[in-house]
Amino acid sequence: MNDISSSRPWLSRTFVDDRETVLLAKYAMFSRDSLGRRRPEPPHPYRGPFQRDRDRILHSSAYRRLSGKMQVFTGEMGDYHRTRLTHTQEVATTARTIGRALRLNEDLIEALALMHDIGHPPYGHCGEDALDEVMRPYGGFSHNRFALTIVEEMEFRYQRHPGLNLTAEVLAGQADRTEKNKLDRSSLLEVQLVDAADSTAYDAHDTDDAIKLGLVTLDQLQQVPLIHECVEQVREHYSELSERFLSKAVVHHLVNWQVTDMIEHNARELQQRDFQSSAEAMSSGFRIGPSPELAEKKRVLEGFLFQNVYRHPKLIAVRQQAHDKIQTLWRLYVEDPSRLPKKYQIRAEHIGIHAMAGHYIAGMTDRFFEDTYRLMVHSR
Ligand code: MG
Repeated sequence: MNDISSSRPWLSRTFVDDRETVLLAKYAMFSRDSLGRRRPEPPHPYRGPFQRDRDRILHSSAYRRLSGKMQVFTGEMGDYHRTRLTHTQEVATTARTIGRALRLNEDLIEALALMHDIGHPPYGHCGEDALDEVMRPYGGFSHNRFALTIVEEMEFRYQRHPGLNLTAEVLAGQADRTEKNKLDRSSLLEVQLVDAADSTAYDAHDTDDAIKLGLVTLDQLQQVPLIHECVEQVREHYSELSERFLSKAVVHHLVNWQVTDMIEHNARELQQRDFQSSAEAMSSGFRIGPSPELAEKKRVLEGFLFQNVYRHPKLIAVRQQAHDKIQTLWRLYVEDPSRLPKKYQIRAEHIGIHAMAGHYIAGMTDRFFEDTYRLMVHSR
């Protein structure tokens, strides 16, 4: 495969490097500086290492299962709102838009974005809390850490070893998410950007979904200064919009405002600091994020969403049920490991049944979880 460039004169041997040299800023993570993979592999003729990581993640079964996992709202509430897969795609495109303008490595950004939520159990953060509680004596459960377990141990792509053999930078980026508040250095700018784009995406799409599902009205949301300003600015340009198109335009404006702010604020900061390498940016403590003014406005919006949407009685009821079912199913597997599929029984011998039961449940989609629960509980 590697002599593709000798048989194809149109392809330079340094294609990936040449392209990055032209496109990326000095503070970006260049593919040529990658620390590589645990199991070394020959370079691909036209895909850089982070592009290959992105493709491995995209083709993993954990990634595909994101389509059956809820973001905030469950499937019973309709089929309009975001799943964890569409959320992931929104994060990836938002991060790439900002990353391209800041001249960061888009391939690395995309790989990190597609990976960032693959460790989520069924039923979102409530599923994570339920597993973390029962697994606490056995090390607890974190969806960020579990994403690493998936790509290193649970995906099978190669006959010779488990895992996807991703680059050190993608693995370290995901590990940084787990340790976010404990790090005494900054992460790569690409890693920080994906984190910031995650917040950009969910602030906008949770607002959108909440309106569409009727959990809050645009009028109520206007108590939030950021939304109020969005409405005012949209009305300035489009005074004739009906209620339905007004809320669509407001959400669009909310995305655009955040993305533009992130680009302008960080471009200015990066220009002033003039980092000469990705390593210098990492050791400087510099943080990518919204401008301080927007950060404050986002905080108020997130407070509103927390009180009025994430804690909406409709959601609390679903969550409580899911929480109890997840813990019940976990206990059933712990009591009788023979109920696990064979390959997980074998893995349980190595990592312990408490962790294995959690990992098996965490891999399930919401629907597979419900089917399995019904089967397990009724066949007791
Ligand atoms: Mg996310």
